[in-house]
Amino acid sequence: MRADNFGHKLVAWYKQYHRKLPWRETRDPYRIWLSEIILQQTRVAQGYPYYEKFVAQYPDVRSLAAASEKEVLHLWQGLGYYSRARNMHATAKIICDEHGGRFPGSYQELLRLKGIGDYTASAIASFAFNEQASVVDGNVFRVLARYYGIYEDISSPASRKIFREAAAAAMPAGQAALFNQAIMEFGALQCVPVSPKCEVCPVNDSCYAYHHKKQNVLPVKIKKLKIKQRPIHYLVITAKGRIAMKERKDKDIWRGLYDFYSVEAESVGDWSGFLPEELSGLRPELSSGPFKHILTHQRLSISYWVSELPELRKLPEELQWYTPEQIKDLPKPLPVNIYLKDFFVTL
Ligand code: SF4
Repeated sequence: MRADNFGHKLVAWYKQYHRKLPWRETRDPYRIWLSEIILQQTRVAQGYPYYEKFVAQYPDVRSLAAASEKEVLHLWQGLGYYSRARNMHATAKIICDEHGGRFPGSYQELLRLKGIGDYTASAIASFAFNEQASVVDGNVFRVLARYYGIYEDISSPASRKIFREAAAAAMPAGQAALFNQAIMEFGALQCVPVSPKCEVCPVNDSCYAYHHKKQNVLPVKIKKLKIKQRPIHYLVITAKGRIAMKERKDKDIWRGLYDFYSVEAESVGDWSGFLPEELSGLRPELSSGPFKHILTHQRLSISYWVSELPELRKLPEELQWYTPEQIKDLPKPLPVNIYLKDFFVTL
């Protein structure tokens, strides 16, 4: 890698232009960890209020570990990628049970914790303890690939080592926390994916992509996501002001959240072939949809059907009757929450 003062220039840029964010004002590893988990696959503007809510409700790792998974998922509701919340909660318990509620103080020790990977361990080790550990996220890949002209495929796990080494070589001694924050912020604000601000960039005199006009080519990302289409039909069964709902327990999207009886099929017709014995005889009516809901690897197309019963009746084992008050406290997938708010009950 070129030996130049790239790292120092990024740090100088950061000091002048960075956004003031609460997790940058702290060296508390718990809060840093919380912000990193929330900000994975989430924009700062969307993640900010969730960070504030979590810090207010669970000010330290012990209070998070003491909460139930249901409470944690409820607070997380709307942020998506719910496995993040489940893993975060599980890791909080491990930190309390096995480490006396204290975060380990080094990259290697953090990495040994279940639920903390390379990226998060580097972030906590450098931001909280100023350890010389390089943080490599999407922003960092982009900045390094463009500046140094690295053509390795960023979606290949093997290339991570190359980028980590490039970041480590650029990091000014003793400034791990500042440099890591700086390069991530630089990718988020200056060297952005589309139309990077090259003309006013403090490192444009030595940037490979700028001089070779390769900003649109770098970073290289070869892997294509396989998108799965899923037509989902929800059956909303109501009786005496209650609604039948179930917890999603399978290894699938939204595990641990609550939704309605559902069938995945292109068409359900009059539902006669799709109902278990306990629900036989129901004549559901289409209430609304189909609505598109987009996840990273999946395109959901969701329709809502309603069946109103005169009396409460025995339900299949997976379903239970809930009052609107109880439903309010259940963690629910975003589309279900929107449906309940817009079409059914005011929660
Ligand atoms: S000159 Fe352009 S491509 Fe190079 S680092 Fe600066 S913003 Fe990124």
